[in-house]
Amino acid sequence: GRPGCECNACFSGPDCSLRTPGCTADADSGNPLFLEPYWRRHAAASAVVVSGWHRMSYSTTDGMFQSVELERQIRRLHRAVGNAIADGKRIVFAAGSMQLINALVYALSPDDANAASSSPPARVVATAPYYPAYKAQTKMFDGREYRWGGTTALWANASRNSTTDDGDGGFIEFVTSPNNPDAQLEKAVLGGSSAAAIFDHAYYWPHFTHIPAPSDEDVMMFTMSKPSGHAGSRFGWALIRDEKVAKKAYEYVKMSVMGASRDTQLRMLGIVKAMLANLHGEEDIFAFGYDVMRSRWRRLSTAVSRSRRISLQKMAPEYCTYFKRVREPSPAYAWVKCEREEDEDCYDVLLKAKIITRTGVANEAGSRYTRISLLKGDDDFEVLMERVTDLVNAEKYDD
Ligand code: PMP
Repeated sequence: GRPGCECNACFSGPDCSLRTPGCTADADSGNPLFLEPYWRRHAAASAVVVSGWHRMSYSTTDGMFQSVELERQIRRLHRAVGNAIADGKRIVFAAGSMQLINALVYALSPDDANAASSSPPARVVATAPYYPAYKAQTKMFDGREYRWGGTTALWANASRNSTTDDGDGGFIEFVTSPNNPDAQLEKAVLGGSSAAAIFDHAYYWPHFTHIPAPSDEDVMMFTMSKPSGHAGSRFGWALIRDEKVAKKAYEYVKMSVMGASRDTQLRMLGIVKAMLANLHGEEDIFAFGYDVMRSRWRRLSTAVSRSRRISLQKMAPEYCTYFKRVREPSPAYAWVKCEREEDEDCYDVLLKAKIITRTGVANEAGSRYTRISLLKGDDDFEVLMERVTDLVNAEKYDD
């Protein structure tokens, strides 16, 4: 049981340990509760106590909104994990990487798009299946400086030939690596001088993927929601090579929320220090997270391999520089395809089998695909496995 929990439809009782028979498994959101048991084991070492008088000020004494010590620890974390090169880059904090999506689009857009002699707005694009928030947020804010430009498939040839004076404001491409929803490592599709890329590395941590090499892109975004699991603290950061772009992103966060919450920064400092203190030891959070995610993928893919009705993305073992060995796949999401002609709406097929997923329509991948989250708590995963097993077993009775 989980004392102090909020139960969902599948559980009840004071510690959510009572199962509701026949309930619908909820595998929709990317809520990273698979790491809760880790932090329960490290409850004291990761606790942060904040007295009433502490951190009351808008800013630090030098007028900044970012903790220099937290910056230092995040640089240490990247160096120790080997997933990104932070040296020679600015760090910009934000309220989750959700806030960074628009901060970085704004920062990379032309400055003078509203002036008379201006360049037209930049086109913001991503490759399908992409994370739906890029489109939702860009469309909400778009106007003079940038607008949603659809998927890269529309532009892959145009951008290669384009220069800055051919009548467009250039491209800003979101590259999600590993990708949400299908967990593949990705490269930018568009190239040329008028295309900038924002690499969303939310899942570029050893729980979820092998780390072939540290990423050294011009603009990268990270979040604490996936590596430590503290999604509710709302903390993300960008690593940015160009000083002017970094300044614009910092100004965006300053103007919208006056910097990431100082309480959150203090808590994150405790969390990052606890993660660093245990790296490569018996209580390595990445070894813990990898074990959980690998075993979930193994169980789910074994069950689904018996099915002719649904299939999952193909994933292979790969060498990881963090673990210094070949590791099995351990993706954050299963990307389900419904194979039968008549199963056009895969979300609906799984819902009828009492599994809530997230339809591929949102990713511009079509209704034949749907996403299963593997990030939730153990109890939710067990219910999910029961429902998937029932669905696959039921095929025996079809012809
Ligand atoms: N980018 C990707 C690819 C994500 O999957 C998520 C969360 N699901 C986010 C960004 C946003 O995360 P947060 O705002 O919690 O940092």
